[in-house]
Amino acid sequence: MDKIKRASELIKKSSKTMVLTGAGISTESGIPDFRSPGTGLWENTDPMEALSTTVLYNDPEKFYSEGYKMLLGMKDAKPNRAHLVLAEMEKRGFIKGIITQNIDNLHHKAGSKYVLEVHGNTREGSCMDCGKKVPLDVMTQKINEGQIPPKCNSCQGTLRPDVIMFGDMLPEDFSIASNEVSTSDLLIVVGSSLVVSPVNYLPQMAKNLIIINKGRSAMDHYSDILLNGSASDILEAILEELVEE
Ligand code: NAD
Ligand code: ZN
Repeated sequence: MDKIKRASELIKKSSKTMVLTGAGISTESGIPDFRSPGTGLWENTDPMEALSTTVLYNDPEKFYSEGYKMLLGMKDAKPNRAHLVLAEMEKRGFIKGIITQNIDNLHHKAGSKYVLEVHGNTREGSCMDCGKKVPLDVMTQKINEGQIPPKCNSCQGTLRPDVIMFGDMLPEDFSIASNEVSTSDLLIVVGSSLVVSPVNYLPQMAKNLIIINKGRSAMDHYSDILLNGSASDILEAILEELVEE
């Protein structure tokens, strides 16, 4: 039996399936990942540094001129076929939901309903002093008006984007995600090198594991089915197989 067929059988058999996505699912939307060679967005800047709490706290000018600009680069991206297939799979009851390491909002744009954003999002920011939330657009406007770092309207504290950065704690969504995976029959990983901790522990907790990735991932040896190639081509083939009577 070919691997696509085996994957779809595993999905059909499973009573609860979650999907874990990474930057690789969004490369076909024009957002480069961190670890494929030769991609543009991060070539001149190290994202680990530019998007770190160390730079945010100690050098906000640098943070807002480099890291923050990277985040804004994702704003106009559109979901690709892989995001759309996952939204369709949720609608048809093949998957319960998505755990994403991405901050690009593309699962929401594709119409997915249950999305756990374990590395935060680029829709909102918040005040580091009083916690008040602000839309990212409002923050951006302040920055464009020369207010760097942007300040909270209520308490004049410093605003930051609600993206989980290197050095940050993980949000509540992560414990919900761990619980979802441990109570699932199947986890499907799409487009992640699985080197970022602690998200890369999730595949080890899964009863059954399918990995869909162009390159190698750190957890390939745990997979029951390993599908190397384009996320959108493979997901589309799986959905076709699932709906075929
Ligand atoms: P990663 O960059 O470490 O790995 C991406 C993986 O996707 C690679 O192994 C690559 O081979 C694979 N890939 C690339 N294009 C693919 C395609 N079309 N189809 C299938 N696979 C493809 O990404 P990661 O594991 O998510 O870790 C990176 C971290 O950086 C995450 O924490 C994430 O939050 C963040 N990040 C997010 C975005 C985004 O929001 N779109 C973009 C870059 C980085
Ligand atoms: Zn405040």
